[in-house]
Amino acid sequence: MKRRTLLSLSILLVPALAACAAAAEPVNGARVKREIEKTPEQWKKQLSPEAYNVLFEKGTERAFSGKYWNEHRDGVYACAACALLLFSSADKFESGTGWPSFTRPLDEKATEIVKDISYGMVREEVVCRRCGGHLGHVFDDGPKPTGKRYCMNSVSLAFTPKLEAVAKP
Ligand SMILES: [Zn+2]
Repeated sequence: MKRRTLLSLSILLVPALAACAAAAEPVNGARVKREIEKTPEQWKKQLSPEAYNVLFEKGTERAFSGKYWNEHRDGVYACAACALLLFSSADKFESGTGWPSFTRPLDEKATEIVKDISYGMVREEVVCRRCGGHLGHVFDDGPKPTGKRYCMNSVSLAFTPKLEAVAKP
C-alpha cells in the first residue's frame, strides 16, 4: 500500500519536474550568430560541469538543489557564461518550484524566447541573448504585473548582492 502510494506520487511528480527541463536540440534548427561565441572546449574550461550541462547542453538542475531558489537579498543576476545582466531581485518571487523565478528580465533585450517542443510539450525556452546559453523556460502562470514566470536554473546565473549603504560614522 505504501509502495503504491509512493509510486503514484512519483508519477504525479514527473510532469512537474519536467516543466523546467529543457530541449535536447534547438527546435527551429536555425543557427543564430551570437555576440559571444566560444567552442565547447572553451566553455568547459570556464564553467563547472553542471553549468556547462545546463547552459550549453540544455540540462536542468534538480528542483531545490540550486543556490538561488531561496536567495532573498537585493541584487542582480547575470548570465553565468557571459556576465550579461539578466534579472533583478526586484522581479524575483516565491514560485514554490525550487527554481529561482522572476516575472520579467531586467531588460527585454537581455533574453530571447525560443519555442521548445521537447517532452511532448510546447514551451518557451529562455536563452541569454549574448551567448545563447540556456537559462530555463517562461510560463504564463506568474504573478502580477506581467503574469509571466521565468523559471530559471540557478547554475545558469551569477548573483551579485547590492552593496549595503555604508553607515555614517
Ligand atoms: Zn550569456
